[in-house]
Amino acid sequence: MDCLFCKIAAGEIPSTKVYEDDQILAFRDIAPQAPTHILVIPKVHIASVNEITGAHSALIAHIFEVIPTIAAQEQLENGYRVVSNCGADAGQTVHHLHFHILGGKTLSTEMA
Ligand code: 5GP
Ligand code: ZN
Repeated sequence: MDCLFCKIAAGEIPSTKVYEDDQILAFRDIAPQAPTHILVIPKVHIASVNEITGAHSALIAHIFEVIPTIAAQEQLENGYRVVSNCGADAGQTVHHLHFHILGGKTLSTEMA
């Protein structure tokens, strides 16, 4: 499958990893929009939030259990934002589920 984040998960395309285990990978965004901008992905291909099913419950829970660990590792004790763009209106550009972790400054109050 021609998926950028599957290739990153497989190590075929390099990334700056900040966390990895058997189920998920977190790496720095190539075009950061905040001082800390990390992407958290499942290693298995899921196209977007729209494709999450009950079969992924443990995986999605695991992602959200690990996010605070990554935030602590990145010294985001003052807070951070977690975002997932889903589909065209949200501007999703990579069609492999990912959660942005944004922090390291006071973020915009605008959400949309
Ligand atoms: P989306 O717009 O789909 O929510 O987010 C995709 C993100 O992936 C963007 O923030 C973009 O900068 C990032 N990105 C795109 N290609 C690469 C890449 O090759 N490596 C890394 N580390 N990030 C990428
Ligand atoms: Zn993929």
